[in-house]
Amino acid sequence: MLRVGVNGYGTIGKRVADAIRAQPDMAVHGVAKVSPDYVAIGAVENGYDVYAVDEDRIDGFREIGIDPAGTIDDLVAESDVMIDAAPSGVGADNRPLYERHETPAIFQGGEDATAAEVSFNARVNYDEAADADYVRVVSCNTTGLSRFLAPLHETYGVEKARVTLVRRGGDPAQTGRGPINDAVPDPVSIPSHHGPDVQTVLPEIDIDTIGLKVPTTMMHVHSVNVTLEKTPEDAAEVRDLLRAEDRLLMIPDYAAIDGAGTLKDFALDAGRSRGDIWENCIWEESVTLEGRDLYCMQAIHQESDVVPENVDALRALTGHLTGPESRAITNETLGIDFGGLCGRDDLTADRQTAD
Ligand code: NAD
Repeated sequence: MLRVGVNGYGTIGKRVADAIRAQPDMAVHGVAKVSPDYVAIGAVENGYDVYAVDEDRIDGFREIGIDPAGTIDDLVAESDVMIDAAPSGVGADNRPLYERHETPAIFQGGEDATAAEVSFNARVNYDEAADADYVRVVSCNTTGLSRFLAPLHETYGVEKARVTLVRRGGDPAQTGRGPINDAVPDPVSIPSHHGPDVQTVLPEIDIDTIGLKVPTTMMHVHSVNVTLEKTPEDAAEVRDLLRAEDRLLMIPDYAAIDGAGTLKDFALDAGRSRGDIWENCIWEESVTLEGRDLYCMQAIHQESDVVPENVDALRALTGHLTGPESRAITNETLGIDFGGLCGRDDLTADRQTAD
């Protein structure tokens, strides 16, 4: 049983902790928190041992009825592997702490690629993490783009990808972020960092990305254009290729899911914890072919698509399962499969005929 410590128990850390707990071969040894607050109380109620990042605040935890199990040094020393889910940039500063205890660690996409030996996506380069002590799970947008581009590249070859990322202004709990009422080029310079970030896991892909942020907390939406090297038979063939991927969800026309709001509603109705959507959500109708040019639109749930990737990264780094084995267990334990939307091609076809 792999003992995993989670340093940084915010949007990503608390989701990854719950996902680890659902696995048969790993356990959450404890979670490290900076602030004694409602999230720390939630961690205790979830059954996690809480460790203090800042020793000076141990009394603050005690004042709200939490008795810390130790400090961050204790957690790192007692864990086999650390998940670092501290805010962007802090992870790289934490690396000497992990090195001091000779504890391998997994960083998040807010870190520069140089923070780790390998940038990771479970679908693309699982095996590359086997010899590494420090792995970076790429960001939510990069994860979504890598999952989408990998099967296209393997089947047809990607000559050039051009992506416009319409990014959520902030996560629901990030009260200080905006924009409030605007659409802001972000960054205004082209390309955005996302294209080069995709190349950290798919170095051979030629990709340009442009980003803007808009006033929503729900999801990112990508508008994608890929020039393929080989011409597919038709758009249906490409849809079938994408549908066969376990972490790509094709949204059929008949479901009447017309945006990120209905997607979130759908996830909550399906009983997904926190309304999480671990899969890329690709609008089936948007998958369109003009010669070798493929177009489509996909939504990415920024708070959760990297969660299964972190679980797989733990197994990749410790080397006890293959990529397909790990992904299958992760998918099954988390429940990655919106059964109601799968296998209904006949229904779609009937509708199209009827229309
Ligand atoms: P967050 O702010 O929600 O959570 C970070 C947590 O770390 C907070 O609880 C904070 O109190 C704590 N913290 C602060 N300083 C710390 C320190 N020195 N040591 C340990 N913990 C500390 O941030 P997040 O959104 O969970 O992001 C974490 C990482 O995941 C970042 O690299 C981010 O870029 C990446 N990421 C975020 C998203 C997203 O949309 N939220 C998506 C993918 C990847």
